[in-house]
Amino acid sequence: MKESGLYINGKWSRGSGRKTFMTLNPATGNPIADVVAGNTKDAQEAIRAAEKALPAWSETPAPQRAEYLFEISRRLKKDKEKLANHLSEEMGKVMKEARGDVQEAIDVFEYMAGEGRRLFGHTTPSELRNKIAYTVRRPVGVVGLITPWNFPMAIPAWKIAPALVCGNTIVFKPSSDTPRTAAELVQCIHDAGVPDGIINMVTGSASDVGKEIVTNKKIRGISFTGSHTTGEWITQHAGIKKVGLELGGKNAIIVMDDADVDLAVDGIIWGGFGTTGQRCTAASRVIVHEKIAKELEEKLVQRASKLRLGDGRKTTTDVGPLINERAVEKSILYSQIGRKEAKLACGGKALDTKGFFFEPTVFTHVKSNARIAHEEIFGPIVSVIRVKSLNEAIRVCNDSQYGLSSSIYTNNIANAMHAIAKIETGITYVNSSTIGAEVHLPFGGVKGTGNGTREAGIEGIHEFSETKTVYIDYSGKLQKAQGIE
Ligand code: NAP
Repeated sequence: MKESGLYINGKWSRGSGRKTFMTLNPATGNPIADVVAGNTKDAQEAIRAAEKALPAWSETPAPQRAEYLFEISRRLKKDKEKLANHLSEEMGKVMKEARGDVQEAIDVFEYMAGEGRRLFGHTTPSELRNKIAYTVRRPVGVVGLITPWNFPMAIPAWKIAPALVCGNTIVFKPSSDTPRTAAELVQCIHDAGVPDGIINMVTGSASDVGKEIVTNKKIRGISFTGSHTTGEWITQHAGIKKVGLELGGKNAIIVMDDADVDLAVDGIIWGGFGTTGQRCTAASRVIVHEKIAKELEEKLVQRASKLRLGDGRKTTTDVGPLINERAVEKSILYSQIGRKEAKLACGGKALDTKGFFFEPTVFTHVKSNARIAHEEIFGPIVSVIRVKSLNEAIRVCNDSQYGLSSSIYTNNIANAMHAIAKIETGITYVNSSTIGAEVHLPFGGVKGTGNGTREAGIEGIHEFSETKTVYIDYSGKLQKAQGIE
């Protein structure tokens, strides 16, 4: 079995503690690689390397930094099939989605490389004569990136690409469920020639490596994607740092009585069971107008019951495994809770086989205050809630601690516009599912989903840069703003 190491100051290492842990194939439960378990000391060494590399990298012209991003993108493209295959083996998602995960990384490196020739500031007039004012973008400094397992290549890339082009240096801690995919991404960055110390990766536990990254004062920015609970912990312990949080969701698809029901069912199947329901934007609630509820529920159950569970790398598989045993236990728990709160229409069981499989599950007649309608399950469980009007649908949709994604299926433009205006989420789709972000648009949520930062698009640049304001007075005399004589 291959061993995957720590990457510090341009070299792979076995860490100071010489401990390892295993990463598993969730379709079989079998180990696929031994991974070095870094510790606090290793994290500190990585931070020192990033600190040392910062001056030269931040002073490198942004268009030159961007050249490395183009090269990383080219290399990912060349190895796309192999990387997707390995990703599917480690994370479990089906091959077409694994290719999409790698493609998203390719896209974001390409997009952010383009930003190397922009990194726009503002120029403005001054209040005073013979004086100009403008802003420039500066790097934050050494940034800590902490990522989950559900998009093991795309999410790290969403953070690494803007962090690099803005001139930051990086200490990266990937999820302990998908460290091999992270190592493959880092290897590609190394092969693209990114100089030593600019990106450092420390695999290992949240309590050692994660905690050191969050609390170390030399780290000036944290970009975290993961659970609400961890996001709160980071908020409490990061001290004065720039912190970006992308947390959980309980996303809803609203289906109105004037909608194309078959199109809506397509969207629910994709949003609810794609990635085995393990997307922050997964459609775990369906809010349906009572006039079409029966038809929609029947079609949804018929389609969901036919989905084929299996190894994500097999072409016969529609839905892959869950990430680990804990995730299966969580789905079992919520399935038990759901049986008491609503009607189980299909699924509801873990498979009695090797690997971490849970059947695509639909609950109907779910009350809007049910636990399965509020708590993030992160598994293939969809709750259908019936409503009488658009206003009620929007009320139910907004009755959530989260606010990431939402969708409305309707053929009435007024319904769509009303929903866009009133739904409290960072993203709203019309006649399309809750998933499917594109890298040139901002991504993120409101309420319990985050702290107001956005990733991707131009806002991804804002997360990884600071604004400096410059005033240049060429009048040759002391001039004072605010009309002071
Ligand atoms: P998680 O348990 O919060 O872990 C995420 C990352 O944080 C992992 O690398 C984990 O390390 C690390 N970590 C955990 N506790 C930490 C601590 N106290 N200090 C520092 N690092 C810590 O989340 P997950 O189970 O991997 O991911 C699923 C969650 O992510 C869901 O809630 C999902 O909605 C959310 N998510 C959100 C978005 C978004 O953009 N809004 C996208 C994808 C996923 P270990 O792996 O070593 O424990």
